[in-house]
Amino acid sequence: MMAQYLEIKGQYPNALLFYRMGDFYELFFDDAVAAAEALDIALTKRGKHLGEDIAMCGVPVHSAEGYLLTLIRKGFRVAVCEQMEDPAEAKKRGSKSVVKRDVVRLVTPGTLTEESLLEARRHNFLASFSRVRGESALAWVDISTGSFHVMPLPEVRLGPELARLAPSELILSETDELNLEDVTAEAGVSVTPLGRSAFDSTGGNDRLCALFGVETLEAFGSFTRPEIAAMGALVEYLEITQKGKLPLLRTPVREAQARVMQIDAATRRNLELTHALSGGRSGSLLAAVDRTVTAGGGRLMERRLSSPSRVLDVVQQRQDCVAFAVEQSRFCNDLREALRRVPDLDRALSRLGVDRAGPRDLAAIRNGLTQAAQIAGFIGGMDLPDLMTRAVRDLSGHDELLDLLDQALVAEPPLLAREGGFIAEGYDQELDDARRLRDEGRGVIAGMQADYVELTGIQSLKIKHNNVLGYFVEVTATHAEKMLSAPLNETFKHRQTTANQVRFTTVPLSEMETKILNAGGRALDIEKRLYESLKASILDESASLSQTATALAELDLATALADLARSENWCRPKVDASRALLIEGGRHPVVERALRSQGGDPFIANDCALGDDSDIWLLTGPNMAGKSTFLRQNALIAVLAQMGAYVPARSAHIGMVSQLFSRVGASDDLARGRSTFMVEMVETAAILNQADDHALVILDEIGRGTATYDGLSIAWATLEHLHEINRCRALFATHYHELTNLSDKLERVDNATVAVKEHEGDVIFLHEVRRGAADRSYGVQVAKLAGLPQSVVDRARVVLDALEKGEREGHGKREAFIDDLPLFAASPPPQPKAPTETSLAEKRLGEILPDELTPREALELVYELKGLL
Ligand code: ADP
Repeated sequence: MMAQYLEIKGQYPNALLFYRMGDFYELFFDDAVAAAEALDIALTKRGKHLGEDIAMCGVPVHSAEGYLLTLIRKGFRVAVCEQMEDPAEAKKRGSKSVVKRDVVRLVTPGTLTEESLLEARRHNFLASFSRVRGESALAWVDISTGSFHVMPLPEVRLGPELARLAPSELILSETDELNLEDVTAEAGVSVTPLGRSAFDSTGGNDRLCALFGVETLEAFGSFTRPEIAAMGALVEYLEITQKGKLPLLRTPVREAQARVMQIDAATRRNLELTHALSGGRSGSLLAAVDRTVTAGGGRLMERRLSSPSRVLDVVQQRQDCVAFAVEQSRFCNDLREALRRVPDLDRALSRLGVDRAGPRDLAAIRNGLTQAAQIAGFIGGMDLPDLMTRAVRDLSGHDELLDLLDQALVAEPPLLAREGGFIAEGYDQELDDARRLRDEGRGVIAGMQADYVELTGIQSLKIKHNNVLGYFVEVTATHAEKMLSAPLNETFKHRQTTANQVRFTTVPLSEMETKILNAGGRALDIEKRLYESLKASILDESASLSQTATALAELDLATALADLARSENWCRPKVDASRALLIEGGRHPVVERALRSQGGDPFIANDCALGDDSDIWLLTGPNMAGKSTFLRQNALIAVLAQMGAYVPARSAHIGMVSQLFSRVGASDDLARGRSTFMVEMVETAAILNQADDHALVILDEIGRGTATYDGLSIAWATLEHLHEINRCRALFATHYHELTNLSDKLERVDNATVAVKEHEGDVIFLHEVRRGAADRSYGVQVAKLAGLPQSVVDRARVVLDALEKGEREGHGKREAFIDDLPLFAASPPPQPKAPTETSLAEKRLGEILPDELTPREALELVYELKGLL
């Protein structure tokens, strides 16, 4: 057995080998050590290899999925090795013979299909990047839903695309693995290197043609060599991991970069589009806006939010659907009610495709189609917007399949096909017979007993059952003779005589017994056969079924966005090709929600007016005034508008944004070991080098990470560059008041400030954005609010006054004023108060030892103390 183990393990050096032994998957040697640690399970020993103990651990087959998930999450790959024959067969070959085993599947992060291993509302992409003669491309699939995409992609854009798609696994050629290490590490994607040959575009072409059963790929569009290579490598990898059982893939769709808003990784992080900075989903824009009720709708929501469109027509069509659902609120609610009952069709289909499904997946298809037909029925007659009309068309056309599944399946089937019990009664005569024999066996036998009583005339004749004889006919000894002589002895064969009874069997009875014994097994076999045939009927229609799934997701998304728009009072933004960013009464959906849940102050809506005669707003105002919130809310509104949603504003006019950039000065990035200032500058450089005139740039306190004058100069030059060279729209928050002078020099720069009110030396935040520059920064007041000791606040005021006076009086004076400042003197700690009447009482109290007082003394003491007041 060890020899077999080592041979198989040799083929999968980079994976943990789950070696099936009866009811367990066992792991040996280093695999066992690694898995025991990762899974926190016991490490044991079994036998010796080359004189050393063999480390071993194991997990039960029935709960293996949970362990698999943990291992995959921790970055392992797992090769699942099964027994390929019954151990009894191996024995037949000889007592020493080992059961045949083989790896049936390589489980990796990007190739999961099990419900328990996947997050229902998230895609699970497997991506591959290839290069052919200076050109490159990215392809990605989600085998749990079958979606398949590809696009040409220059290497410099790989990072941002990985950030957008967030694949769980990326395939690279061995040579690229090292070259691209920085990019892949930044994206946090698990990389799988494949040999060069997997990326050969000619071989890739053949694999793809074979997979889709076509002569040439041109049927799906014209692809470049690197695109074919990237797609071909994906198919090759799926063949390796799925051991030849290829998942159902839809035909590849080419995605053009120019069709989506480009958002790089730093911007996504910063704006917390799909993940909050703290890591989880909660606190992200996605969490605040996602009201979809199906898993497919949830995935579509995430995809749209991650890739807002740049195609006007697409945006408007999606808006039309949301608008329709906003107006028709009854329709919208009914539709959402029906959608709630829609199961995850895509993933059920994909499991059926790779043969990892069960009866519940058949039922999921049936339930999904039932809902789809119902939905098509009640919205079919309405005058719908285009996109919905198309969706509704894709909902129907499966009547035959639905009838079939309806008749064949019980309402709530069990999880596993091998347990049977999922085919409904009345669907298959043979199955019904088999089950009746199994279940009603006793009844049938009871019927025979009555026949035999009549035949023999022995009223006390019984049919009984025990483990030794099985079923038998029993009479008391008094009737023995009658039974043992002609003609009855022809029917009844003697089996056993006991003290009081004689036992017989008959040919029909033993036949019936065999039937009953076999019936259970036969019923299972029939069910398995029917399962296969139902599966085949479903897979025959897989392409149009996945269109139905897409249509349901589209309806879910549109109605979810409408529900959100209505309850939150959002508006339909006007989106066009202009360069406007005109937002009246805009709000930050996540901050607003947080404020509401805290039950505190309401969110103050603010306007933004870029595009008309200003491209850049320079926003000043004290810390905590709401600058970052304002900056981000405008970016989020652009994202929502271009995904086709309504936006949190009274009105909005958005000129299509081509690229979105957002940077925050001096964010801590110690984890990556670069100085914070360096990160800030690298990121700013990326913007200045890339932003085009339709870009929207959000810069929050750029330059903060270095000395004042350095920072100010960098912020200054950056602003000039954005204005003169990039000519993009930008919102620029800064605490350098000096910059506000720039608005006089640069034509398309305007000042804005977040208003605060001063009240008896304290600041009150109004959170209102107004035109003009902040008159001062109120840093000292804010510091006071934060609880800095009073002595430090007082001293800071003195220093600030001196500095400001120096500034006003001109060149060189500032240093003089600073020199003149008296040294910091912390105000003396409060003096002890002079003794007073009260403190006499305190003194007296201090002398008392309560334990030693009698009740009487205590009472006297009270009088005494009272006298001291
Ligand atoms: P800044 O960037 O100016 O330091 P922030 O944008 O971080 O300030 O805002 C500080 C806090 O003020 C936020 O956490 C939020 O609670 C509150 N806030 C910001 N904008 C608004 C607003 N428009 N209405 C109400 N509260 C706001």
